[in-house]
Amino acid sequence: FYTLAPAFPRIQRENRQGAAPQRVQREPRPSRMRKPFVAGNWKMNLDRSNAIELANVVSSHVGDSSEVDVALFPPFVYLPEVAAALDGSPVRAGSQDCADRAAGAFTGETAASMVADVGGALTLVGHSERRHVYGEGDEMANAKVHMALSAGLEVVLCVGETLEEREAGDTEAVCARQLQAGLGGVSGEDLSRIVVAYEPVWAIGTGHTATPDQAQAVHAYLRGFFGGLKHAGAAQENAAKSLRILYGGSVKPDNAGELLAMPDIDGALVGGAALQADTFIPIIDAGR
Ligand code: PEP
Repeated sequence: FYTLAPAFPRIQRENRQGAAPQRVQREPRPSRMRKPFVAGNWKMNLDRSNAIELANVVSSHVGDSSEVDVALFPPFVYLPEVAAALDGSPVRAGSQDCADRAAGAFTGETAASMVADVGGALTLVGHSERRHVYGEGDEMANAKVHMALSAGLEVVLCVGETLEEREAGDTEAVCARQLQAGLGGVSGEDLSRIVVAYEPVWAIGTGHTATPDQAQAVHAYLRGFFGGLKHAGAAQENAAKSLRILYGGSVKPDNAGELLAMPDIDGALVGGAALQADTFIPIIDAGR
């Protein structure tokens, strides 16, 4: 089901010294109202020194450029040092998950407030591995969204259908349900701190990418669906137009350009290819 990337990826040191990274060839992007956002989800990979080194290489490549928002999601134990390595850089660090409770006797859990306390700016919620490997449902995702927002974090809420659900024609219904339930009770004011990641489960870590048209169709549907949701105090139309929806699922340097060129694909959530600078940096550049 899931192919692990190498545990100790090779990092191109040349990038730190400022050598020109490989760039994805693509047409210039027409100006758009949503700033592209490329995020790397390291999952349970890397060790301490590779994590810090990769953060340094990414931040030195990004420099002070504000063309693309970039975030890194290291394992919890490396988050404080990765956040410190990114201090002063526009690249932000976040957690791959957070607890659905504020504090207390919840062995093994990490509260959203603790993520913020060590310098995390955002968190993933509802990643497909949380949903399908650990059996977390929409109610739990919703509780985590509220915990993260109260801790001042930005949330990347992940939604996506399994292969079985796609083949049954349920893609839209599943993604809409996950989006609506995940955002239940979120105020209009907090919507600006929500990013959605559409990640078809059949495309994550499998090498099977949704085609740009397949992904665009779901993104456009989700934007429209989001526009119809009622959030207290929200200017819905603007909220839908400014909602960033990232695509995730086997994004690589050679497919990032065409995916990110689609009108409703505002960036990428990258797993395997985010573990090495020489595959992650071209994806960041594809967002420019
Ligand atoms: C992910 O984990 O969110 C992901 C999209 O992984 P990959 O890029 O490896 O498919």
